[in-house]
Amino acid sequence: MPSVQAAGTAMPVPLAPYPTPVPFTPPNGAQSQLVCSGCRNLLMYPAGATSICCAVCSTVTVVPAPEI
Ligand SMILES: [Zn+2]
Repeated sequence: MPSVQAAGTAMPVPLAPYPTPVPFTPPNGAQSQLVCSGCRNLLMYPAGATSICCAVCSTVTVVPAPEI
């Protein structure tokens, strides 16, 4: 009969030893900003996007390669 040894060497999993810090937006976070090449509006786009279609002038602005 198999049995699980639960006492002795088993270590308890820590449950949130400290309160979760307030998340902040890193410079290269999930969202970036780019100036529209058509109307110079500041566009916000999610990270990973390769091009943005401006909602104001419908100009497609190519997103430059992210810095690594
Ligand atoms: Zn635009």
